[in-house]
Amino acid sequence: MVDIHQLVGEHKDLVIRTRRDLHRIPETAYTEKKTSAYVAEYLSREGLETQTGIATYGVVGLLKTGRPGPTLLIRADMDALPLTEETGLPFASIHPGVMHACGHDAHVAMALVTATVLNGIKDELNGTIKFVFQPAEEGPGGAKPMIDEGVLDNPKVDYAIGCHVWPEIPGGTIGVRSGPFMAAMDRFDIKIIGRGGHGAMPHLCLDALEVGTQVVNALQRISSRHLNPQEPTVVTIGMFHAGTAFNIIPAEAKLSGTTRTFNLDIWDSWAIWDSWAERLEKIVRGVCQSMGAEYELAFAKGYPPTINDDSMAEVVRRCAQKVVGETNVVEPARSMGGEDMSYFLQQSKGCFYALGVGREAFVPFHNSRFDFNEDILPIGVEVHCRTALELLG
Ligand SMILES: [Zn+2]
Ligand SMILES: [Zn+2]
Repeated sequence: MVDIHQLVGEHKDLVIRTRRDLHRIPETAYTEKKTSAYVAEYLSREGLETQTGIATYGVVGLLKTGRPGPTLLIRADMDALPLTEETGLPFASIHPGVMHACGHDAHVAMALVTATVLNGIKDELNGTIKFVFQPAEEGPGGAKPMIDEGVLDNPKVDYAIGCHVWPEIPGGTIGVRSGPFMAAMDRFDIKIIGRGGHGAMPHLCLDALEVGTQVVNALQRISSRHLNPQEPTVVTIGMFHAGTAFNIIPAEAKLSGTTRTFNLDIWDSWAIWDSWAERLEKIVRGVCQSMGAEYELAFAKGYPPTINDDSMAEVVRRCAQKVVGETNVVEPARSMGGEDMSYFLQQSKGCFYALGVGREAFVPFHNSRFDFNEDILPIGVEVHCRTALELLG
């Protein structure tokens, strides 16, 4: 039996070097050209059957053992953020205004090195491992288009795992949760149409800005008054644009926001309640009608909730305990953030786990100074490898 801990340890330099290579060349959603080429070249060099150009820049590497067995999908997201890096690292972004500030460089590096390690011991495995590198996790989402192009077929995927670096739990720990882990996220856009005019003569106008403020307030009552308080939800209005001058009553106001929930009933098909879209519509219509304003409302469904399969969470938990010890495997709090790993988990038994990178000087995701201790990289590789050995060994 192979000593997986030692084997992964021998690849520590490789995973750090790979992460740094990727960190230097961050690319935003659906522009992951260099990253995708790097990934494809790496996988081909390893001798994996490699497919490119899936949903623009998506890449798949197939590790075939030649023996019958299940198929495990290991997923990594490739995109970075439109942010100017301020880490001062020697391997900082060479792309102005773009930065890997969500750790996707780590996710890709760990998946690639997992491919190297498992390829070296494929005699110990059955079935197939499908390494999936997707574009655009930060939005609008590359997972679903890759699935639409058949990434879960040939061979059909049975299990799926993936991880995200997680600043909310300490470095050296791993977070595993059964059931809902991350929220469903949707977007809505509202346009309120009033009648503009002189700031001194409100009686001759219909103040779209003022109607907009009432809409903002009324929408906050969905979470606080309409929904079961035991089901966490968020309604955030992140944009509110109206007006051009201090003495002009605006004819129009535009609002955009997002709704979040872990609950499939609230998200998709409420048994007794309206859907998010219906609920929003009723409130916006009611407020606007009462003020005599017109409105337009567009609701766009985003990622589903990220829900881990109980038995797969148990497998990953058990493997993680072998890597970092029982006390260092924790149950992280659920996150209201969204993740399009959810689409893979909808169609296969899977688990999306958290790789602790928290430290004393806590720097959140999407921050221009986001960084982490690279010692965590072999930990992620080892959890991936052990899970593969457990399921296909
Ligand atoms: Zn992010
Ligand atoms: Zn992310």
